[in-house]
Amino acid sequence: VKPAPFIYHAPDSVEGAIDVLAANAGAKVLAGGQSLVPAMNFRLARPEALVDINRVAGLDQVTIDEGVLEIGALARHVTFEAPVEPGPLGRSLAQVARFVGHLPIRTRGTLVGSLAHADPAAEWCVVARTLDATMVAAGPNGIRHIGADAFFHTVFSTELNDDELLTSVRFPLLSDSHRAGFAEFARRAGDFALVMAYVVCELDERTIRTARIGLGGVSDRPIRVPQAEAVLTGQAVDAGSVSELAVAAGSAAADSVVPFGDIHGSPEYRTDLIRAMVRRATLQALAS
Ligand SMILES: Cc1cc2nc3c(=O)[nH]c(=O)nc-3n(C[C@H](O)[C@H](O)[C@H](O)COP(=O)(O)OP(=O)(O)OC[C@H]3O[C@@H](n4cnc5c(N)ncnc54)[C@H](O)[C@@H]3O)c2cc1C
Repeated sequence: VKPAPFIYHAPDSVEGAIDVLAANAGAKVLAGGQSLVPAMNFRLARPEALVDINRVAGLDQVTIDEGVLEIGALARHVTFEAPVEPGPLGRSLAQVARFVGHLPIRTRGTLVGSLAHADPAAEWCVVARTLDATMVAAGPNGIRHIGADAFFHTVFSTELNDDELLTSVRFPLLSDSHRAGFAEFARRAGDFALVMAYVVCELDERTIRTARIGLGGVSDRPIRVPQAEAVLTGQAVDAGSVSELAVAAGSAAADSVVPFGDIHGSPEYRTDLIRAMVRRATLQALAS
């Protein structure tokens, strides 16, 4: 299948990319092309112009500064399969990375492109929402910093304006007292998951000081589940309580979220998956 005709631009600077975006109302950024190109080939997307950012030097950088991991717009999914930093965040991103599609997709596709695409069943969108990542958007009026809670509007729709380029995303580093777990259910390895859960707990000795639980594949955007987080917060963790806490968190999440249904799974089926995925991710986090 061939895409509809489009004009191809390949600027070599962020400013050049923004200029093209601002001058072409129907233009789209091309990063790894792993979502945009299939959509164009099926003619689900018909951008009048493409702004290929792959020649912009420096956008593939992954840096750490003052407790923040900053990931540039051209860092590919595969970059994160080995920890990009030695702490819990690097290890957790490495665990999640392997769930993103298949190796060829991870080799071309970008983490930031996944956030811009905003598929509610995308692993990085759930991680960004759960960890309160900050998106860095460059546009004709300068730089905007957008929190993940405000960034995701609905399916394939974000706070980003048409003339803005997402240049990077910033994740706060996790301290050694953080524990993370991730679980998802997909019909086949590499498929988009029906439901995924990401759990990050901060321990104070053996007590859970804070708990973050994020879900994907259940709503029009990645969500947090405060009711399940409350079940874990303040609880003592020991060999005897871990599995009980995981079951309680899974039940609280299943009771408090009303998931959508589609041809892949009814709301009732997804509710069962929420229960199981939150339980598994919590077990991983607390047992690690
Ligand atoms: C068979 C298959 C299976 C897949 N499975 C999964 C999966 O299991 N989990 C998963 O998360 N993803 C999956 N994907 C999607 C893949 O992860 C994509 O790489 C990702 O969604 C988009 O990243 P990209 O760099 O390829 O973006 P592109 O395809 O280049 O762009 C996607 C969209 O984001 C916009 N965009 C990209 N970068 C920017 C930017 N810097 N600033 C502004 N807008 C931007 C584009 O304009 C476009 O609208 C799969 C894809 C395929 C083809």
